[in-house]
Amino acid sequence: MNNLQNAFYNILPIFLQNVACNIHGFKQKKLRYGGSFRDRLEWLEGTQWWTVNQIEEYQNQQLKKIIAHAYHTVPYYKRVFDNIRLKPNDIKTKEDLSKIPVLTKEDIRRNLADIISRDFKKFALIHSHTSGTSGKSLQFYMEPEAVQFRWAVWWRHKKRFRIAFDAPYATFTGLNAIPLNQKYPPFWRENKQMNQTVFTMHHIVPNKIQAIATRLNKGGFTYYAGYPSIIYVLARLLLEHGLKITRPPKVIFTGAENLYEHHRKVIAEVFQCVVTDQYGFSEGCGNASRCQHDVFHEDFEYGILECNNSVVHSDRSKEGRILATGFSSYAMPFIRYEVGDVGIWKPEASCSCGRHSRVLSKINGRVEDYVITPEGSRIMRFDYIFKDSHAVEEAQVVQYEKDSITVRVVRRPEYCQNDEELLRSEIKNKVSSKLKVNFEYIQEIEREANEKFRAVKSYLKEEQKIS
Ligand SMILES: [Zn+2]
Repeated sequence: MNNLQNAFYNILPIFLQNVACNIHGFKQKKLRYGGSFRDRLEWLEGTQWWTVNQIEEYQNQQLKKIIAHAYHTVPYYKRVFDNIRLKPNDIKTKEDLSKIPVLTKEDIRRNLADIISRDFKKFALIHSHTSGTSGKSLQFYMEPEAVQFRWAVWWRHKKRFRIAFDAPYATFTGLNAIPLNQKYPPFWRENKQMNQTVFTMHHIVPNKIQAIATRLNKGGFTYYAGYPSIIYVLARLLLEHGLKITRPPKVIFTGAENLYEHHRKVIAEVFQCVVTDQYGFSEGCGNASRCQHDVFHEDFEYGILECNNSVVHSDRSKEGRILATGFSSYAMPFIRYEVGDVGIWKPEASCSCGRHSRVLSKINGRVEDYVITPEGSRIMRFDYIFKDSHAVEEAQVVQYEKDSITVRVVRRPEYCQNDEELLRSEIKNKVSSKLKVNFEYIQEIEREANEKFRAVKSYLKEEQKIS
């Protein structure tokens, strides 16, 4: 939603907001689960049992196909290949990938118009943007088939835990589907088209937790899905308020950021169920999902995950920065895309579940911290604030003291006073109207000791965090 749509949505009565959610839900359902989705899911349920040789043969064949397509129809790749006199035929196997330069987020930003395949019309593509971990906005395009492929991969993960396709579920999201100033329940919206009830992080606050617990207990939700950091905050609040979940879900599926073991423990305890996660990113060019034995398997059908600049540990596991080459999007191919995460691969691709795709023992994805608003909500994600701020190169939100935050911005040359005003009003409208916002302009945002970028950072003491 853009700002105008958002302002309009916010003044609608709740039943019309539910209607709007359903219209959106109807469109989403058609996009995600239409077209090739069902055939793809059925195929994926078979391919997950392929042998090592079958996997290798399939990946090399898909690789050759996407490379030839990229070279012949995507001006950016033609230029990159020609510059180093590389021909599509030089890439025959996964091992040849290292001949191709790494694709960074900045490369995509600078070459957006040239990285779309000439075989596709832009208007027929799905336009998305993400700020990733660093507050930088990244735009990209994909064809509907690529969206269906992604949802088929995600649904295969759910099917491993025996979830039926139409099962009712609750989603915990960072989106703004519920106006910030709403004081009375329902603090959720119903998307009947998808049998989904949406809860947002802005309303998971102490004075609303009782109403949320009542809705969850009434729910009969078969599963929950969402960001682990948000579900963790929910679990903590339920514990702190002595509230019990009397009708727990069968499974909780998390994704999009790190699921920490100590968070998983609290979540599993409060909701008395299995908690599993998968590793994916919106750019949609690589994925890994856990099996029933809690082991992370590469979803090899969807793309190749490479371990770049790797270090070999004493147990022969390999650690390195994740590069992804996607097999699903021909509209905007991602080849050796640097995701910004670090993975550790086990030396052998074996698991007692019987799958042979490569196994990751750990993925260091997003590192999350949170700020506390004067209203008492714990906000872990600000990426939606920066989504339309193309003049922001990088941003970090820091909380030094209660009731205020500092937005640290690395500006692009075109950044002006208006951009600051826009960010200020976005925070006022979407995060908190009472939060004081300071800006700090800097040359560069320092990385953490583990080289990860920290999008949100809190200097509050633990006791200040408990409101
Ligand atoms: Zn397994």
